[in-house]
Amino acid sequence: MFDPNLQGHLPVRQRLLERVQAERLSGSVVLVGPNGIGKRRVALELAQRELCFRRTACGDCAGCKPFKTDPLPQELPNLLRIAPEGKAGVIKIGAIREDDLVEGGVIRWAHQASMPGTHRWILVEDAHRLNGSSANMLLKILEEPPPSTHFLLVTHRPEAMLQTIRSRCERISLQALEPADVWKIAASAGWAASDRESWVALAGGTLRYLDPAAFALAVAQVDAWLAIAAGESFAAAAGPLLPDKNSPLAQSEQVTQVLELLQRILADTARLREGHTLGLAPWRAGIETLARSPFELKGPVEAIHHALRHLTRNPFAESLLREIAMALKVRPGSPSKKP
Ligand SMILES: [Zn+2]
Repeated sequence: MFDPNLQGHLPVRQRLLERVQAERLSGSVVLVGPNGIGKRRVALELAQRELCFRRTACGDCAGCKPFKTDPLPQELPNLLRIAPEGKAGVIKIGAIREDDLVEGGVIRWAHQASMPGTHRWILVEDAHRLNGSSANMLLKILEEPPPSTHFLLVTHRPEAMLQTIRSRCERISLQALEPADVWKIAASAGWAASDRESWVALAGGTLRYLDPAAFALAVAQVDAWLAIAAGESFAAAAGPLLPDKNSPLAQSEQVTQVLELLQRILADTARLREGHTLGLAPWRAGIETLARSPFELKGPVEAIHHALRHLTRNPFAESLLREIAMALKVRPGSPSKKP
């Protein structure tokens, strides 16, 4: 039995559990997969099972209760959680060094003895946000964690992690969830059936738009890209695409979302041209306009790919997005700009 509030990923969860029970799980594991599919819950479930009175991560008993609180405590009897902090959303060295770590000191914590029947779990959320010095401090212990201590790193941007960290962890990939599964969760969170089609289309097997404000923003962003692609000026249409200082997301995360949405629009444009069904079906009219216009997808697709790979922590969002928008507008045969 498993945490009933956790949807999907059953084969991976089963395999992880069997390896833990056989004491065959690597000391350092990185869980990789799209943003908002429940990777963190999959990691937490392993720790939760050990404190659950029924040993199942039932979700109902007093042992499971601390795992249900929001925000999750930084420390539980068998779990230490390291998460990005501050506006830049960076995991700082203070969380990792040994000396100032009476509480929250990762390396010291990792070396303490585990309670009978449990392991020491160290969860590193958004591991791609470890800054250089934090990552360097972790390197050694990641290579050979103390017996019965496990590091569980979680990230949706493994390419942005330091290679040295990546190479010390066993990589376990999780896939997007089934649309029916994500909708079940959305519906229980209060989403109305009338929103189902566009919510499921945009969510793409993730829970990242569970919050109505996040969903409304993503809708505005898709509309903005389609308007720009249809010829509207960047200045007039780009409002929703630009980072918002008050957003709970770091600026690089906001820009990533905006670029990924355009990636999906362009993928759908290619699909439509080849006569396949659309992921973003509710936006079909706009995507049809794009598919009919004689423009090459290659340029903007490569520009987005390049931007995502090289995204810094605080990108010059406006000029970056303006450049991508330009790539969208280059049509074969359109007159080149006069100097
Ligand atoms: Zn329980």
